[in-house]
Amino acid sequence: MESSHANDVESGQLLPIPDPAESARLLAGLGAEGPGGTPEGFRSGFVALIGRPNVGKSTLLNQLVGTKVAITSPIAQTTRNRLRAILTTPSAQLVLLDTPGIHKPHHLLGERLVQSARGAIGEVDVVLLLVDGSEPAGRGDGFIVDLLRHCRAPVHVALNKNDRVDPERAEELLVSYRRMLAGEGDFAIPEPRPKLNWPLHPCSALHGDGTEALVQALAAELPLGPQLYPADAVSDQPEQLLMAELIREQVLQNTREEVPHSVAVSIERVVDDGPRTAILATVLVERSSQKGILIGKGGQMLKTIGQGARLQMEKVFSGPVYLELFVKVVPGWRRNPARLAELGYRGD
Ligand code: GDP
Ligand code: MG
Repeated sequence: MESSHANDVESGQLLPIPDPAESARLLAGLGAEGPGGTPEGFRSGFVALIGRPNVGKSTLLNQLVGTKVAITSPIAQTTRNRLRAILTTPSAQLVLLDTPGIHKPHHLLGERLVQSARGAIGEVDVVLLLVDGSEPAGRGDGFIVDLLRHCRAPVHVALNKNDRVDPERAEELLVSYRRMLAGEGDFAIPEPRPKLNWPLHPCSALHGDGTEALVQALAAELPLGPQLYPADAVSDQPEQLLMAELIREQVLQNTREEVPHSVAVSIERVVDDGPRTAILATVLVERSSQKGILIGKGGQMLKTIGQGARLQMEKVFSGPVYLELFVKVVPGWRRNPARLAELGYRGD
């Protein structure tokens, strides 16, 4: 990897979601198609993961592709960017779009997140609505069902977290989702309520139960088509964006309330230094009080964050990593459209 500037990260984040046909053409031109061509009956296409924050979208993505491509955390709204993960089976290739959870926007960053999720719905072959199946259906789910009912693509529903469900309650929970889709009960879905027969798939993103059947059901909805990406690709995300996300994940996991949502990470420099990768990164915060928290007493917090991120990076990139972190105060970056665009949070 060449040394490079943070701008590379930014331009990488601004890539538009490709038109599948266009991607196929481009990649075929690059010789990305296997030597034997595409097997007969092969299907390929795009799947959008939609759901409220914290239902397990990123966990499912990581489970499906078998490696860490999205960061997860117990804190809502961890995923800020759309992320494409690629899952190739002998008979299909699914390009999965992780979206930030849909919720009511509070500030400009929040609005951009919702726009991004809405945008993804219009561009895919199938939508996977993820819900927390360990809870009965609620009005928050109704809000998303209403959003999806006009979408052109077929919708499947994953009832996630079923490892938490007491088998005696499973049927009752399933029924609450069936009723919501049938237009019964009060789920804040405006009249006239549609009758939706979206298939339900109980699963556990965390443990992988039910995910194989889920993949088969999704793959069956895709059009016949060639592989869009090489079979061994797991993500089209630039490596540097993943590095930044792994650092942000550590910030989220190690700090309390007021810091996480104010953090952005910029990778300043990556040097391939023999077997070791050296990474220089800046953590941006909004206030100097947050900078203080991130650095901690005697630099201890920053050290913990750096060590945690380095260990994750060494797993993901399978090799030794040297990581140097800086913290910088950029007042109001979340409210500044130019700054948001620079950091890759686009409104489309
Ligand atoms: P997202 O906001 O929808 O992307 O949700 P995340 O993937 O970040 O997950 C949010 C939290 O739910 C994390 O603490 C996950 O470990 C947890 N989680 C996700 N899937 C499951 C699951 O299948 N079972 C259980 N028990 N927890 C899960
Ligand atoms: Mg997420």
